[in-house]
Amino acid sequence: MMSIKEQLGDELIEARQRLADSEALVDRLRSNILALFRRGAAVGKQCKYCQAPIYYFIHRDSQKTGVYDPDGTSHWNTCPRAEEARKAIAAARKP
Ligand SMILES: [Zn+2]
Repeated sequence: MMSIKEQLGDELIEARQRLADSEALVDRLRSNILALFRRGAAVGKQCKYCQAPIYYFIHRDSQKTGVYDPDGTSHWNTCPRAEEARKAIAAARKP
């Protein structure tokens, strides 16, 4: 049977790991958000394919629109219906 000292030691190791994971997540989010703010201004909407909350950014340099999740990840990397959306967007661009 595990002693209280051993048990507390294991819990401390787990707590430290969770803290490290959380710090890494915050760093990643901060970096993503800063990158987005550098690219342009955001408009919050809902994905018309999966209804997830998304942000449209107009990229200052290219004037193209990017679609992102609230954590700054490109929505087309996480949308479960991304392929359908890509096809619809491509079809709409055809003359
Ligand atoms: Zn979506």
